[in-house]
Amino acid sequence: MSNLEKEKILELDRKFVIHGWGYSDIIITEGHGARFKDIDGKEYIDCLSQTAGVLGVGHTDPRYVKAVTEQISKISHSLTMFTTESRAILGEKLANIAPGKMKGHIKTYFANGGSEANETALKFAMASTGRKGVVGTYNSYHGGTLALASLMGQPWHREGLPRYPDFHLIPSPYPYRCPFGKMDPDECDIACALALEDAVKHNVGPKNFAAFITEPIKGNGGHQYPYNTEYWKIIRETCDNYDAMLIIDEVQTGMGRTGKVWASDLFGIEPDIMTSAKALGGGMPVSAAMIRSDLVDPKFQDEQWHIFTMGGSPVTLAGANAAIDIMLEDKLPDKAKRQGERITKRLKEMEKEHRLIGEVRGPGLFIGIELVENKETKKPAFKEAADIFSKALNKGVLFGLSAKAGVGNVLKIKPPLIISDEEADEALNVLESVITEVEKSKR
Ligand code: PMP
Repeated sequence: MSNLEKEKILELDRKFVIHGWGYSDIIITEGHGARFKDIDGKEYIDCLSQTAGVLGVGHTDPRYVKAVTEQISKISHSLTMFTTESRAILGEKLANIAPGKMKGHIKTYFANGGSEANETALKFAMASTGRKGVVGTYNSYHGGTLALASLMGQPWHREGLPRYPDFHLIPSPYPYRCPFGKMDPDECDIACALALEDAVKHNVGPKNFAAFITEPIKGNGGHQYPYNTEYWKIIRETCDNYDAMLIIDEVQTGMGRTGKVWASDLFGIEPDIMTSAKALGGGMPVSAAMIRSDLVDPKFQDEQWHIFTMGGSPVTLAGANAAIDIMLEDKLPDKAKRQGERITKRLKEMEKEHRLIGEVRGPGLFIGIELVENKETKKPAFKEAADIFSKALNKGVLFGLSAKAGVGNVLKIKPPLIISDEEADEALNVLESVITEVEKSKR
């Protein structure tokens, strides 16, 4: 690789590359811990872990770099039919850290990204139940493929695309904005859970109901979740009553971010299938569809039914093994809990002072700040959120913002779980100063 001038890189990238999810002319060159640098040497605090929590263990931890480089110097790709040490070990590690009744009792299919893991989960649920009906929720995000577009809870993801006739969506718990109107949060959560049975009876058909899929906390969709954990009991019972599978998408919430290894641990969810990606690979493209062992008929293990060529590469899985080891050795879930409480406490104080902050939502380092034009009407402050995001980036702090659709007013804080108190405070100082600036400019 040559070292091109900045202008040349930008020119080539604009001329020959499709971006697809926003664009910035910041040319990122390196990252260490919770910080990264651009081509001009400007340093940023990474309050997003690049993409919604991917770098949970931080940028370039030496243990991670060592594990990946050692593996790549031996073999860079292998046929999925062959067994590798890194795949066998990772399968066992995931079984050991799986939530609730899954602990010790899962088999895992490895792929590259969250979309592939969710496609695998759905395909498996359909193949093993012999049914096609799937229910998802509003405001969800499960992946960028054509099939998953039908499960996207934000309509703009589906524009111009065909809909799967057997895929249905039900309202999703959003205590700050109850989808049924002005119910109190507890009632709203229960009404959302009961909507599943309604959809099964009236839309999907009881004998066609293969699976319900949802995120424990909506990631792209604006960080809402049922505050009442009774929601999960009703969902579990409904799936059981109709012999359907419960698929929990922990692509964003997993690997310690919420203060537990999985959000399923935090909320007492008992999935049949759980998917993980993003932080699982520690920066390498790794995803997993973890399935309760008793549901896995031997034919799914030994016969040809599904393949992603690059899934289960020894190199990427070496990254995932290292990321899990680092998470456990350094007690990252505990760190996320502690730092999350620190940050959320300060944000809640800011919520009282600042007219733009409608609600601050944790848990752990899965933090959303819902920005509103008016605290009474709760009118979403889309423009202000976009201003705050870009002003903070100019001042050297990367936050998250799902800028399109109905949730572009929720700013996200998902830093590496190793972020120090000083870095967190510095980032919050920048956030408070840009919120104040935007509030003043909009009076
Ligand atoms: N599930 C969730 C909850 C996600 O947030 C995402 C990505 N934003 C996906 C699935 C899809 O993952 P990927 O982009 O790696 O395919």
